[in-house]
Formats: sequence, C-alpha cells, structure tokens
Amino acid sequence: PTAGDSAPAADAHERIRVHGARENNLKDISVDLPKRRLTVFTGVSGSGKSSLVFGTVAAESQRLINETYSAFVQGFMPSLARPDVDRLEGLTTAILVDQERMGANSRSTVGTATDAYALLRIIYSRLGTPHIGSPQAFSFNVASVSGAGAVTLDKGGRTVKEKRTFSITGGMCPRCEGMGRVEDFDLSELYDAERSLNEGALSVPGYSMDGWYGRIFRACGFFDPDTPIKKFTKRQLDDLLYKEPTKIKVEGINLTYTGVIPQIQKSFLSKDVDAMQPHIRAFVERVITFSRCPECDGTRLSEAARSSTIRGIHIGQAAAMQITDLAAWVAELDEPSVAPLLAGLRELLDSFVEIGLGYLSLDRPAGTLSGGEAQRTKMIRHLGSSLTDITYVFDEPSAGLHPHDIDRMNGLLRRLRDKGNTVLVVEHKPEMIQIADHVVDLGPGAGAVGGEICYEGPLSGLRDSGTLTARHLDDRARLKETVRESREVIEIRGAVDNNLRDVDVDVPLGVLTVVTGVAGSGKSSLIHGQIADRDDVVVIDQSGIRGSRRSNPATYTGLLDPIRKAFAKANGVKPGLFSANSDGACPNCKGAGVIYTDLGVMAGVSTTCEVCEGRRFEASVLEHRLGGRSIAEVLAMSVEEALAFFREGEARLPAAHRILVRLAEVGLGYLTIGQPLTTLSGGERQRLKLATRMGEKGGIYVLDEPTTGLHLADVDQLLGLLDTLVDAGKSVIVIEHHQAVMAHADWIIDLGPGAGSEGGRVVFEGTPAALVADASTLTGKHLKEYIA
Ligand code: ADP
Ligand code: ADP
Ligand code: ZN
Ligand code: ZN
Repeated sequence: PTAGDSAPAADAHERIRVHGARENNLKDISVDLPKRRLTVFTGVSGSGKSSLVFGTVAAESQRLINETYSAFVQGFMPSLARPDVDRLEGLTTAILVDQERMGANSRSTVGTATDAYALLRIIYSRLGTPHIGSPQAFSFNVASVSGAGAVTLDKGGRTVKEKRTFSITGGMCPRCEGMGRVEDFDLSELYDAERSLNEGALSVPGYSMDGWYGRIFRACGFFDPDTPIKKFTKRQLDDLLYKEPTKIKVEGINLTYTGVIPQIQKSFLSKDVDAMQPHIRAFVERVITFSRCPECDGTRLSEAARSSTIRGIHIGQAAAMQITDLAAWVAELDEPSVAPLLAGLRELLDSFVEIGLGYLSLDRPAGTLSGGEAQRTKMIRHLGSSLTDITYVFDEPSAGLHPHDIDRMNGLLRRLRDKGNTVLVVEHKPEMIQIADHVVDLGPGAGAVGGEICYEGPLSGLRDSGTLTARHLDDRARLKETVRESREVIEIRGAVDNNLRDVDVDVPLGVLTVVTGVAGSGKSSLIHGQIADRDDVVVIDQSGIRGSRRSNPATYTGLLDPIRKAFAKANGVKPGLFSANSDGACPNCKGAGVIYTDLGVMAGVSTTCEVCEGRRFEASVLEHRLGGRSIAEVLAMSVEEALAFFREGEARLPAAHRILVRLAEVGLGYLTIGQPLTTLSGGERQRLKLATRMGEKGGIYVLDEPTTGLHLADVDQLLGLLDTLVDAGKSVIVIEHHQAVMAHADWIIDLGPGAGSEGGRVVFEGTPAALVADASTLTGKHLKEYIA
C-alpha cells in the first residue's frame, strides 16, 4: 500500500533543503525533503539518521525559533550552537515527538499531560451536581487556601489601606496534597534501638555523628546522645524523630534543629527517586513504603471535589476509567449547553483509542508510561492541534507496538501529513517504511563508514537501489527445525498485577522465551511483576542510566579503568589524572566537555566547552600519550577503532579488549566510547547494559524489546547473541514484537486477546511452529504472514 498516491501535491520548490551537513559522522551531505509529505529515514544504527534529522534539521529549527525572542528573553536562554551545516532552506517549526519518558513529576498524569483532564474539569464545573465552583475546584494540583491581608488603594489621589479576604477553592486532597498516596516510615530501618546516637544508632545516609548532624544532636539538649534509643522517653523519641524545625544555639551560633523524619521528607522525598544517588535510593526504598491515601482513596481529590457527580460518577472515578469506557460514557452525555466541550473531549478520547492507548486511564501517572506509550501520548496533543505546516519529527514510533498496532500508528502519521504537515520519521520496521512518500537511506555502514546518502527518492525506487536496507526489506524468517527443551520452569500462579486475570503460566528456563501480545495486553505486568524481582534475575531495560554528565560508555562499562592505568604506567604519572572527574579535568567544564544550562521549564541545553573545546582535560594531561594517542583522542574512538588500537602493538591491553569485544557483540561497534550517556537512544542504552551485565552471575536475563533501534540487518546479530547466552546455560526471557525474534524463540507466551481490560490472559503458550499452525491469536496470524 503506497500512501504516496493519495498525498496532497507538493510543489517542486516546496522542499526543506539541506546543503553540506557535517554533524557527527555526516559526510558533507545535501538532501531535499519534500514538504507536507511523509519521509522515512532508514539505515543501520550509527549511520547518521539522528545526526541528520534531530541534530541538523530539528536543531536548527529550534535555534531559529529561539532567535525570534526579544534580546531580553534571549538573555535568559543559552545560545544554541548552530549545527555543522552550510545552509538550510525552507525550514518550518519543528516539533520533536520522542520516546523520552514523561516527566518524573508525580503530579502529571495522562489526563493532565494531554488536556483531557482540563476538559473534564470544565465539564464537571458546568454539569456536576452540586456545582462546587470553577474548573479549578476539580484540580488535584490546586490547594484550597483562604486568608486575609491589607491592600493599598489609590482613591482619587488619597492612599487608603483596606482589609481584604481571599479564598481559592482547589480540588486537592489536604491529607496527601494531591499525590494520592501517603508514606509510612519503617522505623526499625531508621535506627537501631539498642544503640545510642554516639554508638551510631541512626542509619540515615549523611547522618554521621562525626559531622554536622552529630554536632547538632549533641548540642540540642533534647536527648542524651549516650543513652540507647530504647531508653528514650516518648517525648525524647518524638523530638528525635518528628520535631518540626526549631531554632537552637550551638556554641553561640544560631542553628535549626529538625527531627529525622521531617528532614528526610524535605531532603529526600521531594526529589525524583530516579535522580537519587544509588545508596540514597536504596535507603528510601528500604525505609519508606507508600500506601493509598486513606482520605481520598487514591483519587488525589478533596471531599468537595468528590461530592460533585455527573450521573452518579465523580471526576476521580471518571479519570480512573479505562479510556475506552470513558469515551463510551462521555458519548452518552447529551447536554446542549456544553456540546462543543463534549465534542472536543470525545475527539481527544477517540484519538487515544485510535492510537492504541485506549487501555490507559486518565489518572495514570505519566511517569509510569513506557517510552513508546509516552511518545504516543505526546502525539495526541498534536493530533488535535489546529496548527499546520509544522515539521513533526518522530523517533521510531513503532517502538512497543505489536504488528497489529502498527497499522493504526500508520493511519495517524498519515493524518498528520494530510493536515498539511511535514512528517519526518526515523524507523526500521518494514511495515512503517511501506507508508513513506519519500525515503532517505543513510549508510553504507555506521560511524566513520556511514554518514552518506545511499538512496533518496520515492519508496518505489528503494527496492531497486540495492542498499542494505533494500536487501532486507522483504526479509522473511524461517522457523527453527528444532527448539531447545527446557529443564525447569518458573511457576507463576494467580498473577493479578495490573490487568492480569489470575494468570497461571510456566515460564521455561534454560531456553529463549519470547513474550508477545498487543501493547497493553499485560506483558510487562507479567514479567516485571512476577519475575523481575527474583534474586537470580538480571533485568536489562531501556531506562535512563543515571550518572553524571561525565558518564560515557567507557566509564559505565569499566573500560576506562585499564585504559587509565595503562596511560599512567606509560607516562609515569598517577592514573587519577586521566579520569574526567579528577585533577586532570578541564576546570571550566569540570571534565564534561560541555557546559550544561538548565532551563527550568524548557529542556536544558549543552554547548561545547570553550576552554578545552570538548576535550575534557587540561592541556598538560593531553600531552601524555599511549601508543601515540592522547586520552582525549582515545575517548573519541569508536568501539571498532578502539578494538584495533588495544588489540596489539604498543597499546596492547587485553583487559580493555575484552570489554570492547562485548560492546561490538551487542551491535555497538560504531559507538564513540567517550560519547555522553545522555545522548544515547533507549535501544543503545539497553545494548550497553547488556554488554556490561553479560558476564554477571544471574541465571535469568530479562530484556524489553531489544530490537528497538536496530536495523533489519542487525537483528540477526542480536539473535546470535541471545543464542550465545542460552547456550552458555542462561535463561533468556524477551518481550518482543519483532517477528524474526518470535520465529527464533524456543517458547512463546502470548498475552491478550486485547489491551487493558480486554487483555490480561495467556492466549497461547507453546513453540513458534505451534503458534503459526494454530494461528488463532493476533500474534499467530501476523507471524504466519512473516514466515517464509
Ligand atoms: P543513527 O541515528 O543512524 O543511529 P547517529 O546519528 O546517532 O546514528 O550517530 C552517527 C554517528 O555519530 C555514530 O558514530 C555516533 O556514535 C556518533 N554520535 C552521535 N551522537 C554523538 C554525540 N553526541 N557525540 C559524539 N558522537 C556522536
Ligand atoms: P504491555 O507490556 O503488554 O504493553 P502492560 O503490562 O504495560 O502491557 O499493561 C497492562 C495493563 O496494565 C494496561 O491496562 C496498563 O494500563 C496497566 N498498567 C501497566 N502499568 C501500570 C502502572 N504502573 N499503573 C497502573 N496501571 C498500569
Ligand atoms: Zn489523599
Ligand atoms: Zn572544558
């Protein structure tokens, strides 16, 4: 099905023209992208797709938009570096719809992030009985406050002071402050009652008796630091644990004493758990348990907000409905006074269903969505937008989608295009490449051997172009002649996590098991809820890798350690000099190579450090050489280059070589070893974790869509790697949508039949051959079509 036939006509001059692009590995390329068409960018990982689409076209559009602000506003914005490109013509405003997970802000829900909840609030403020006030009265993010104050007024030249009272009615539950949950502290994890403070009774990170807190505890006079805590009076224990901030004087200095628990709430709980240092996160997870707020029953809403109902349903209950059910409920509300609002909400909810997210509910915390779900949720905002002539840029929109869901996603991308927008998509899946009006194929290889245009033109010409992508376009998988037999199983009985319907299933060990099913069927709920917590399990997912901005593949994998030592030995200096967080680091950027500007509400920006020009080290450090190269030059090598460099000769370094071999095995041979982790895609992060953790003891590996970001040509290599793991005696459990991976499985567990409340059951378990022979499930039907 070629969509090109139905695309609106674009004049020849209506193009985005890129002249001489050289960002990252791009080889001075020029390309024309037709406006108001759908262009798909293909090519192996590392060929330069992101450098062209995100790093050049979208980046320049963003930079030009920033330049339209007044000089005053610009003063608060960093000056974005111009991408390395000679000229760009015909750019329109670009909007990036990526897979970054949605804010860690726990106040953001699917409903608030898409405006669906805002519409619902207005509808409740008009139709709810009783009326409780403005739309704000239904917002769980607005507290009710009232008070009095004096205002100064100018009455005909006379200044008078008048007393005014004010009151704001919000919908926030006062007990949990709109979070829907309250925290409980496990006191036994907080302190050892047998010991005194001076004997180290407190086990709170940062509470050392040798430090600041020790001084305050000894001087405050609320309790005796040498008495075991079990002997404290109730009053003393309360002061230790709960006292609100109180002024005290220590050695003549005014200080504030705060009880341990309010202090923990202030210093740890206001932060995003993922952003914490690992030992603090471990502490928080050990000591604090969250439970549903008893006051609002988890709805986040005040009693007043919950008292107003439409047809017996309050707004919290409406937000908790599965969106498909909510859409049906809204469709029944027939109230002429708010007809346009209802129509708007209905349209929005229908887009959720259409995009394959009908199984979500509006109250779902945005931070719990997977990357693919987050991308589709962001897309919803734009589908309803009346802006046209926008350039939409998508990063692998098929991520997380079952072949069955991809059809719907294709429909939505076409709809965006037909509204008069230019749609640029980076994608690997043949089903998505099929709908391109125009294809730009980058390659031929990755990194230094990529960055060229191998094909550009209509989809019809791609097949004859003979490029790597073209050769794999019609790939079909073959079922294996024999599958491995499992030795033992993990028995799952009565699983009810999220939407699971009392699932009983045996997950075989010692084999390659693939878990399939449409998005929202319950795959993650089953695997993460029932298997991931076991001690012998290594979970390798795509989530961000926390670390400083100085972290890169070399530091993350431990590769830098042997390299540093070798540099030190060769030059007769200390190894510490060669790490970017030590004395040898550039003092301006502190070893990051870039200066990062946090923009608060907007996404932050990095600009190359002017002092070291991105080399991260002091000039004197760069004079030290190993095999003729400086540490900065080594960090600028790709994995493949480093493999050759450390294999033999003067820089021979078996310890480094071993780690590099694993990186190449997972398909990251093109990756620059010093590239900041923050710039890696989800798929790259997952493969980096895989390379790092492959040698670990755990017997069971869980992977979540490891083909994300992989070119068709790279999938075979991944399958080989999974086989290597299984043949080495490990169990591999993979959540996947790629038919080549399904066909390669020893065992398939298929969940469904649908998503959300229509899913949650095991609809098939058995070998791929049996799945195809049966072909009664959606997955079976799609796999059957894919088999040669
Ligand atoms: P693709 O999107 O096709 O996977 P990229 O454009 O991400 O490819 O990468 C092209 C090349 O540029 C790769 O060799 C990659 O390692 C390198 N690269 C990408 N981003 C950066 C960066 N921020 N710093 C250094 N090198 C980078
Ligand atoms: P899959 O992995 O097959 O895409 P999931 O296991 O993510 O499916 O989702 C199954 C159901 O459970 C969906 O209805 C989804 O909305 C719900 N669900 C998943 N994670 C959460 C969560 N953290 N909180 C509430 N509901 C969730
Ligand atoms: Zn509450
Ligand atoms: Zn610097």
